[in-house]
Amino acid sequence: MIKENVKQILEKLPKDVFLVAAAKTRTIEEILEAIDAGVKIIGENYIQEAINVFEAIGEKVKWHFIGKLQKNKIKKAVKIFDMIETVDSVKLAREIDKRCNEINKIMAVLIEINSGREPQKSGVLPEDAEKLIEEVSDFPNIRVMGLMTMGPFAGNPEDARPYFKETKKIFDKIREIDLPNVEMRYLSMGMTNSYQIAIEEGANIIRIGTKIFGLRDYK
Ligand SMILES: *Cc1c(COP(=O)(O)O)cnc(C)c1O
Repeated sequence: MIKENVKQILEKLPKDVFLVAAAKTRTIEEILEAIDAGVKIIGENYIQEAINVFEAIGEKVKWHFIGKLQKNKIKKAVKIFDMIETVDSVKLAREIDKRCNEINKIMAVLIEINSGREPQKSGVLPEDAEKLIEEVSDFPNIRVMGLMTMGPFAGNPEDARPYFKETKKIFDKIREIDLPNVEMRYLSMGMTNSYQIAIEEGANIIRIGTKIFGLRDYK
């Protein structure tokens, strides 16, 4: 099933859109099946889980962190991940920079936008994004490469469109002002039920779990 699911998604994906397989709670076997079918980027939410699958699978794919990053896990995270999609504060960026400096790595990051302005959700508010990006771009071991957003959970995928539109607007504006050390290349939006709409609104990274692996038991 996983193989067919991945093939179905990839067949219809525009060439310039990257698929991240959101692999939380999935087994190594399931993830390997997705990789066999053509998945090239794995997204992980939890560091310990990521370490386990990374040790089994290694560097034949790219690894994106897409969860909420705790300060005490950053040292481990920077060793594994090629990109951290969820930077939403200077504090977090400072720690990523420090830990990357220790291992001589420059980390590609996306700035997470709280496009639904939901108090309990992570991400920087749309109106604070520019200032945060300016501050984060000063860290020598971090490279800002774009934006990521979740948007509020919506039963109807169309309901996600305004949040994707708003995030794309910020993306274009930051690209326009052309900040030093910032390369607005990636816009990560859209999950199983909303990725087609996200692509219409300019996403070039989509993060898909359920449509690849089936329903999750937990988390
Ligand atoms: C789980 C997850 C996804 C994928 O969600 P699905 O609805 O299963 O496709 C995408 N992004 C993030 C940040 C996630 O945690």
